[in-house]
Amino acid sequence: MRAVQFDTYGGPEVLTVREVPDPVAGPFEVLVDLQAIGINHVDLDVRDGTSRFDITLPHTPGLEGAGIVAEVGPNVGSVKVGDRVALSYIKTCDQCEECLSGREMFCPRRGLLGEQIPGTYAERIVVPASLCIPIPDSVSFVDAAASIVTYGSSWHALTTRAQVRLGETVLIHSIGSGVGTAGLQIAKAAGAVVLGTVGSDEKISKALDAGADAVINHNTTDFVEFALDSTGGKGVDVVFDMVGGRAFSDSMKAMRPNARLVTIGAHGGEVVQFDVIEFFRRHITYISTHSQSRSELRQVFELLGRGVFDPHIHAVLPLSQAAEAHTMIASRSNFGKVLLDPTI
Ligand SMILES: [Zn+2]
Repeated sequence: MRAVQFDTYGGPEVLTVREVPDPVAGPFEVLVDLQAIGINHVDLDVRDGTSRFDITLPHTPGLEGAGIVAEVGPNVGSVKVGDRVALSYIKTCDQCEECLSGREMFCPRRGLLGEQIPGTYAERIVVPASLCIPIPDSVSFVDAAASIVTYGSSWHALTTRAQVRLGETVLIHSIGSGVGTAGLQIAKAAGAVVLGTVGSDEKISKALDAGADAVINHNTTDFVEFALDSTGGKGVDVVFDMVGGRAFSDSMKAMRPNARLVTIGAHGGEVVQFDVIEFFRRHITYISTHSQSRSELRQVFELLGRGVFDPHIHAVLPLSQAAEAHTMIASRSNFGKVLLDPTI
């Protein structure tokens, strides 16, 4: 089969399409013929060597994949040949206390597809059957692969962690990103008013078209003033931050008392100034979030099947154009998801 691999860390040019042996499903495993592969910014960090993950070279990147079960190994009862499945990217031991209590994303023996273990940039992949999430008939493979990280992360962040409620105002930093647009749809479905920030004027109209109530370019408009003006001076109830840096520290000034900020990224700055006095006097809550459980992914896919969510697809490229796809993501020119099609 064909797979995209790299032998050394570097730019997009290190990604190489090559023939590798077909994987074989062992006990409790399935072989999946991939039909769509989602690309995430972390794939670029893995490729250039800045991800902090322990990787063995040559490496196949890719967290996200959706496809058709082609073979099942011994002792598999949960899925069968022909099933349409999306893959949770967190491989776990399924035996420890965290796994047995439905919090398998905290398994101490976990490995992530495309990070510590070979990923989805390939025609076929073998995974534990427990990672397979059923795809509703009405959802395409492209939409399914595009939704695993974005809606999974945003669902856990906004629904489980921040518990966004009807009538609240949510400020989403970088609302044009994959996680941002998913967060917008989840917050709107929960009944919230959604404010957003983007990095260019052309993304303002796209975010408004996607359903945001008000959006600014944070390079030309101060987001704290924007949030206060939009809420009659009160401040927002929830901030969803995947930027870090000033977005993380200054958001406190845009939040009303008892508000909460939920954070999932730091490309804008990993170490920040933080006003502790402001933080405790106004009962602000800062919440961390990182990944989601398989049970949450199943909820996301049920809602996708009912048409509650509509993933934004920017481009689908052939598997052989993985390097072009990485260049597209690095330029931040995309609004919505970039994917690979391993069938062409
Ligand atoms: Zn475990």
